[in-house]
Amino acid sequence: MEVLERAGELPGILDRLRAGGHRVGFVPTMGALHDGHASLIERAAEECDHVSVCVYVNPLQFGPGEDYATYPRDLAADLVVAEKAGADLVVAPEVEEMAPAEACTVVRVTELGEILEGRARPGHLDGVATVVTKLLCLAGRCRAYFGEKDFQQLVVVRRLVADLSLPVEVVGCPTVRAVDGVALSSRNAALSGEEREAAPVLYRALRAGAASIVAGERDPAEVVELIGAVVEAEPLVELDYAAVVDPETLASPETLAGALRLLVAARVGGTRLVDNLGVRG
Ligand code: AMP
Repeated sequence: MEVLERAGELPGILDRLRAGGHRVGFVPTMGALHDGHASLIERAAEECDHVSVCVYVNPLQFGPGEDYATYPRDLAADLVVAEKAGADLVVAPEVEEMAPAEACTVVRVTELGEILEGRARPGHLDGVATVVTKLLCLAGRCRAYFGEKDFQQLVVVRRLVADLSLPVEVVGCPTVRAVDGVALSSRNAALSGEEREAAPVLYRALRAGAASIVAGERDPAEVVELIGAVVEAEPLVELDYAAVVDPETLASPETLAGALRLLVAARVGGTRLVDNLGVRG
């Protein structure tokens, strides 16, 4: 497996591979790789001839007071996970290359970037969109793999690829969970033992919401209230928001029918966790 420090080397390497007929897969991550990331790399390795993984903790997507400084970083461990999952190349660029001080261009996501996570974390999705656009431009024609775990991010990335005509096929991959239902996340490492025991309430709340829809509930407000009530019954967890949305537009439906996505965000101690679940009304 090849390891690069400069993302600027990607186009030359990947262009040569494409010229040789190779299908290129690309998996952008912020490192601290776990089985969720590995599932993206494995899927890419199944579907492509070459898989590049990016490990880059993107400062643009952290707000003031968020956990940029303390976000877990362990490139040596990441290389082991990436190689085992089938990566051919890992690029771990520096902030100086990805976001140089003189940079003055950003990608701004309008409506889709201002709701849900965008409202809770102003500028977050613009930060994601700016770095993902740059990385996808460097990767060039490829299939790019993103997790449903960060559902709004996946929708935003699909939208930006379409809006900016990038030659990229976005592949959404299912959320990998621990046995107790907690979605794997690099941030789970920041939970205390007690907080980790409380964390499954997010998935439990989503499942309760989905079950009520399957049982015939058609009022989104009732489902949102139910999800909130389940989360708030857990004293260590503070609800940020619960929502039921259209999975393509993230719009709030008037009545619950067809494909839907339930979303939840909550604070568990000092750690903010998000989760989501698909259901049909
Ligand atoms: P991150 O390193 O958290 O920015 O995540 C990098 C990519 O891995 C994103 O596309 C995430 O949605 C995806 N991802 C993170 N956690 C999981 C998980 N538990 N299951 C599937 N994909 C995940």
